[in-house]
Amino acid sequence: MPEEVKKLKPGVVTGSDYLTLVKNCKARGFALPAINVTSTNTLNAALEGAMNSKSDIIIQLSNGGAQFFAGKGIKDVEKARVLGAISAARHAHTVAKAYGICVVLHTDHADKKLIPWVESLIDASEAEYEVTGKPLFSSHMLDLSEEPIDENLAECERVLKRLAKIDMSLEIELGVTGGEEDGVGSDIDQMDNSKLYTQPSEVLQAYEKLSPIGHFSVAAAFGNVHGVYKPGNVQLRPEILKASQQHIQSVYDTTERPLDFVFHGGSGSSPEEIAEAVSYGVFKMNVDTDTQFAFSKPVGAYVEAHPKAFKYQIDPEDGTPFKKHYDPRAWLRDCEKSMAERVQQACAELGATGKSIAGA
Ligand SMILES: [Zn+2]
Repeated sequence: MPEEVKKLKPGVVTGSDYLTLVKNCKARGFALPAINVTSTNTLNAALEGAMNSKSDIIIQLSNGGAQFFAGKGIKDVEKARVLGAISAARHAHTVAKAYGICVVLHTDHADKKLIPWVESLIDASEAEYEVTGKPLFSSHMLDLSEEPIDENLAECERVLKRLAKIDMSLEIELGVTGGEEDGVGSDIDQMDNSKLYTQPSEVLQAYEKLSPIGHFSVAAAFGNVHGVYKPGNVQLRPEILKASQQHIQSVYDTTERPLDFVFHGGSGSSPEEIAEAVSYGVFKMNVDTDTQFAFSKPVGAYVEAHPKAFKYQIDPEDGTPFKKHYDPRAWLRDCEKSMAERVQQACAELGATGKSIAGA
């Protein structure tokens, strides 16, 4: 444990404060959960869980989550996913402080066809930066792992040049992380096995190209799979992260663990596997599938407990009004509490409980 941990103001953190947060995670050997949100309910639940754990947190939106945040009623999907992400960010900026923790705002996987989405969000952050001196988001992600590595890194370089100017960071992906979300999980057996594991030489290439420009983090493939899968299909090999760190350290004589890694597809991993990955420089672990289930689970029990309240406003037999049961706040609150508990579990598994660096 480092002698002195720098405290940050609670609320959304960007720029050098974000780097302080990342550095603190690595120095103290824990990671932050990155929770996907799609609404104010899920966003508030994520903040509540982190607050209960006295942990800082990363809140992120996929393009689909951002679209949902704006409303599926908006016919122009491209527009909706930009507006939804901005709306979620503004909501977080407004309420985060009141939860007393530090909050990182991030966008999740964006492949080649979603680069315009990310660039529109950078436009919004540039405009915000001009007025307030702070961007809207802390970081964005580009997932060009399906493109050839040279193309992947060239595009990341171009985007990071824009981000660095407004104190933002970039998350990149190297190698292929299997799974449902990426649409590549079904044929894992047929896939070239080496593609499931990022090569240290690729990580070195990324380091050489991007570190002179600005801050970036790497989602490396080490046998991790998106979504929940039967164990045993792919072998998790966190030592790939260790080898990548050592490779860069030896070539460029850097300090220990020069890279900031993120863990995608962690659902279903054992606590030992998570702890090992964290010890090799993982500061962020994505959690989506499990918090989705946690949010939805109480609905079943609630409807079972009040079946008539979802068919009639007033009991047809004895005239009892059901308003207090069908009021969306009643059952949505159960969903929020359940999701917040799952977030607390994630904080505990990542060693983040009690380690918020938010100060008064
Ligand atoms: Zn990924």
